[in-house]
Amino acid sequence: MKNLRSFGFASRWRIGTMLLWLVLACLLPGILGVVVLFSREYLNGRAQLERDMIATARAMVQSVDSQLFRAKTVGQVLVTSSALIPHDLAGFHRRARDVIATANVGMNVVLSDENGQQLVNTLREFGEPLPQHGRPEILRRVFETGQPVISEIYVGGVLRKPVLSIDLPVTLAGKVAYVLSIGLLPNDFNAILAAQSFPPGWVSAIFDPTGTIAARTHASEEFVGQKGTAEYIQRISESPEGSMKTITREGIPTLSVWSRSSVTGWSVGIGIPRAILERDLMHTMTWLAAGLVTLLFVGLCLAWLAGRRIAGSVRALTAPAIALGHGQSVPIPGVSIHEAAEVAVALRQTGELLAARTAALEAANRELEQLARVDTLTGLQNRKSANERLHLEFLRFKRSGRPYCVLFMDIDCFKEINDTLGHEAGDQVLRQMATVLKDSLRETDFVARYGGEEFLAILSETTVQGALATAEIVRRTVAEQSFLLVGQVTVSIGVATALDEDKNEEGAVRRADTVLYQAKACGRNAVRSC
Ligand code: GH3
Ligand code: MG
Ligand code: MG
Repeated sequence: MKNLRSFGFASRWRIGTMLLWLVLACLLPGILGVVVLFSREYLNGRAQLERDMIATARAMVQSVDSQLFRAKTVGQVLVTSSALIPHDLAGFHRRARDVIATANVGMNVVLSDENGQQLVNTLREFGEPLPQHGRPEILRRVFETGQPVISEIYVGGVLRKPVLSIDLPVTLAGKVAYVLSIGLLPNDFNAILAAQSFPPGWVSAIFDPTGTIAARTHASEEFVGQKGTAEYIQRISESPEGSMKTITREGIPTLSVWSRSSVTGWSVGIGIPRAILERDLMHTMTWLAAGLVTLLFVGLCLAWLAGRRIAGSVRALTAPAIALGHGQSVPIPGVSIHEAAEVAVALRQTGELLAARTAALEAANRELEQLARVDTLTGLQNRKSANERLHLEFLRFKRSGRPYCVLFMDIDCFKEINDTLGHEAGDQVLRQMATVLKDSLRETDFVARYGGEEFLAILSETTVQGALATAEIVRRTVAEQSFLLVGQVTVSIGVATALDEDKNEEGAVRRADTVLYQAKACGRNAVRSC
């Protein structure tokens, strides 16, 4: 409202603005809490995921170990083969093929001599020419230590593709006579990867102790036999288990975990592409943000609507208030708020009370005004009323040109009545004189008690002759009247008419007063005119 400033209310808050802030104040802590909770939940979820992945990698490493140990067990069965005691290599070849086939573990069995020459290879028929053992240094180590060795992955001499072997000493007569190698293909570990049924996109690989990839969920033909990333090799050498953000061989950024066997040194790595993690995070965050924005939007809309309704209802009270101020009938405005309706009804009731009080006040004022014009003793109009009437008559005369006459009447020797018979008798004379005057004059004539025992009559549109006649009637009526307690009373009357040269109404009264004194001077009980 434009005049608010002039009342010092320039920068007051609006209901709508207050409600908007209220909604923000209520919702923002909740939204903040949701965001914090979500962040904590997300971080906890991430940590749990890492723990689960490490547990999976650990279980997979155990599977790798058990696969290696099963192959080693098969080897240990074969090194004690009775065919080897008499150096029956052909017999050993048959026996080894049988064992490999029934044990369903390992690819082949190779028997090598101290020079690294393969003597038996179950991949070939006995007697076929055979190459050297693919890893002479392992062979040497087994001959020297008499301990079995699980090799890292190397390119096999017969297959010319990545293989690994478990090399065991064949001890005859207390001396290592041969080395028996159980050959394994990295493919043998694929089942361990496949058993996990990783979600699409997850990358997992099995590594030998040197970090060479033995099996892989993705692009295995490309990477099996190759080293893992330098970062991976570095981290698994530092810690048996852990997680890191890294990039796979094919360049996929991942969150990766690993677990390394403390027994065999083989390890398993599992990587979740960060794009998948971020996509899931973004998906959840988008829903969360959309939910929070919707909540905020709905809250603010409701606050705006409520603010509009409240403000509308409050503003609707302005018209009744203004009507109340103007003393008009107070309308009941259309308000939609209970409290505003209560105020509207109160304003209406106040308006009705005010109207009743105003009416009573006006009646009292009218009565007071009436009383102010009436002489209480005689009931005639008083001097104030007479002066007003004189003024009106004068204006009418000036407008119409039709003159009026004034009768100035004074009771003769009234003081004497008072002095001899008392004031009460005097008052009685005054009251009776008033009755005589009212009875003697026309309805349209005006009569007032002008002073103590002086009366003034105004005869509208009356000539001096007419006025003289009326004055004479009055004089005679009074003279012939018997006044209570007093008896005979006379009155002297001065008659004057309004003249064109009169400036105001006082001229006629003054002239009537003058001739009244002439009537007094010539013996009273007389009428004189000028
Ligand atoms: P004159 O014939 O010359 O008029 O003589 P007068 O005695 O009538 O004149 P004066 O003016 O001397 O006396 C008027 C008296 O009227 C004086 C006053 O005490 C008396 N009087 C005025 N008002 C009242 C009233 O209300 N009641 C009574 N009883 N007497 C009044
Ligand atoms: Mg007098
Ligand atoms: Mg007198």
